Amino acid sequence: MELMKELSLAPGVSGSEEEIVNIITRELKDVADKIETDSMGNVIATKKGQKKAPTVMLAAHMDEIGLMVKYIDDNGFIIFTTIGGINDQMLMNQTVTIHSTVGEPVVGVIGSKPPHVTSPEERNKIVKYKDMFIDIGAKDKEEAEKMVKIGDKITFNSIFAEYPNNRVMGKALDNRVGCYVMMEVLKRVDTRATVYGVGTVQEEVGLKGAKTVSFKLNPDLAFALDVTLSGDHPGIKKDEAPVVMGEGPAVILADASGRGILTQDSVKNLLIKAGDENDIPYQLEVSDGGTTDGTAIHLTREGIPTGVVSVPTRYIHTPVSVCSMDDVENTIRLITEAINSL
Ligand code: ZN
Repeated sequence: MELMKELSLAPGVSGSEEEIVNIITRELKDVADKIETDSMGNVIATKKGQKKAPTVMLAAHMDEIGLMVKYIDDNGFIIFTTIGGINDQMLMNQTVTIHSTVGEPVVGVIGSKPPHVTSPEERNKIVKYKDMFIDIGAKDKEEAEKMVKIGDKITFNSIFAEYPNNRVMGKALDNRVGCYVMMEVLKRVDTRATVYGVGTVQEEVGLKGAKTVSFKLNPDLAFALDVTLSGDHPGIKKDEAPVVMGEGPAVILADASGRGILTQDSVKNLLIKAGDENDIPYQLEVSDGGTTDGTAIHLTREGIPTGVVSVPTRYIHTPVSVCSMDDVENTIRLITEAINSL
């Protein structure tokens, strides 16, 4: 649990994944035969198999959604842009950390108009992020510029909590959960195949790291490890998101209505067989929205057979996501058995 907590709390907005790279490198140094980073920032841990045996890539994106300093106004308030898919209403009155490139990290708060002076019409409207700002306590632009700089990355502040029923709550479970699964699989696999454990960069802003690393490694088989919507709480209908927390990993058959990935039968059958033969629970998922690194990977070069296995997670893309460590464990087992059976 300590490792999951460390991963969740570590900052790693798209393009600034170095802290996650450091954790992965530290964790896998005794497991991998070789660990390298590429020019994009992806980290690749290789566990060498037998000559002429297949190669398998496990891809887990390291980046999380966040914000970036765009402009500092005359009164020292920070205007920001969003990085990754963010619902504007999630932002209001959050506390954030600006990872300053000119000094210590700066705590900020996304300010808003008090209820006392908002009209009834205003109260019912969602405030757009473009109308929000971050207060860092500076008295003017000059002082603010000594604290932060244009382009500094911003993460949401949160806590990590252990919930009952082996559940956890924290920020960036999308996709530190996938990073955790990737590392555990690499530690546990016992296979003739060569396995690449990869932490990818910039998934949330266009599946970028996965694109370049899969071209470099050109594996015979790949798995994207991520999180997916858990449709088991108020406000979401069962038919909108049928996968639920606690019933095992989601094996994705299609995402983004097929515009993302349509999983090929050989990969689907490999995963289903691994689940059935080893009594590992799993759920099959067909989704209309969202996609993963798997989409970029399977279209690389001449096409790479790719599976996507995701941990059901509530409140994805907020600083307060919830998932089950039982599902995490079963995801690790499913992928490990699938690779061991090659
Ligand atoms: Zn993700």
